[in-house]
Amino acid sequence: MESWWDLGERGGYRGHELVVGHITCPFCLETGNFSTRHHSEKKRPNSTKKLNFDTLECGNCKGFVLVLWSASDHPSRDGVHDFRVVPWPLRYGSYPKHWPEQVGRYWLQAKKNLLSENWDAAAMLARSSLQAALRNQGASGANLKQEIDGLAEKGILPPIMKEWSHEVRELGNDTTHPAQDQAPTDPQDAKDLVRFLDFLFECLYDLPHQILEYRSRKKD
Ligand SMILES: [Zn+2]
Repeated sequence: MESWWDLGERGGYRGHELVVGHITCPFCLETGNFSTRHHSEKKRPNSTKKLNFDTLECGNCKGFVLVLWSASDHPSRDGVHDFRVVPWPLRYGSYPKHWPEQVGRYWLQAKKNLLSENWDAAAMLARSSLQAALRNQGASGANLKQEIDGLAEKGILPPIMKEWSHEVRELGNDTTHPAQDQAPTDPQDAKDLVRFLDFLFECLYDLPHQILEYRSRKKD
């Protein structure tokens, strides 16, 4: 990118508005939990292009980030925006204690590879983390495809999660067993896969954990 006016003009995230679901707090590492505390704009002369300067507050730790973001004004890229954040997370320290060790270990490595922009490795590790999670849920089958379908049939994986699991499987497979002319993993694909894991593990581990905590509170 040679000019900040190019932000959002070369791909990015869906939508005209900033999707905070893709932003991780650099202080507490919680993702997507922000409210906007300040908003300013700079418009490009004789154009609809504008740069947005937002100050976001983390709902968890009350830390602040500065986000520069802009939506594309090009007709063929209608509904795309991109952003840059300072400060950014310097590391992903750990995974929640109630996650299985193998699932969390691969997930953490996938996250770290996103930070260092190793997109192929992130996609492969996302696939490994998914497979570990499905086996931990009692999936059986000769391969990951059968394991996904089996868990979906049992109702453990909702239909939308099943679809996404197959996307993770396919992209992870391409990278693990590359064809001779295999293209590098698209950065956005790698980010989306790992983001999917965040949702999946919330569903498989965090929600049941919260329900247990809630019930044990009620017993006290
Ligand atoms: Zn925070």
